[in-house]
Amino acid sequence: MPGRETHKYVGATAGLALAAAQAQQESKPHFLIEMMGGALGGMVGGIAPDWLEPAVCSWHRGICHSAAAGGALVYAQQALANWASICRQNAAKCRVLPQVEDIHTGEWLPIPPIPLQQVWSEICEFIWTLLAGFLNGLTAGYVSHLLLDAATPRGIPIWTGRTALKI
Ligand SMILES: [Zn+2]
Repeated sequence: MPGRETHKYVGATAGLALAAAQAQQESKPHFLIEMMGGALGGMVGGIAPDWLEPAVCSWHRGICHSAAAGGALVYAQQALANWASICRQNAAKCRVLPQVEDIHTGEWLPIPPIPLQQVWSEICEFIWTLLAGFLNGLTAGYVSHLLLDAATPRGIPIWTGRTALKI
């Protein structure tokens, strides 16, 4: 059976790759932060199946290890990708400076942020961007776990029970 370490690293790599693919349109710093988030999400996704169904023996693989669960996740990836875009929008909002109208000229001027505010909005922006990558990486990590397990002699169940899928 692939061990926890293998799942962690393969998951992180898969998450990083998928997050990178999804963030191609993003600016360079955001792209890098999303890749970081993707690696984290992939790592969590990569060990999640064994959290849900601890590897006490090679028959531990139940529904959370099933091909059906993997299929459902691939299907749900679009929803996660949508959430990721919401995270990106939130990140972009952190950059917007509040404006105030000049009563004499009618012109809208940005209020210069106080330093603490500036730091806070940068933290917010970072977290939202990281989360976008994390969400994208999660599925990739989980599916990589199922693929690794499916490549073992016992394979993974199709649904529940002992009808196994092997690759
Ligand atoms: Zn497993």
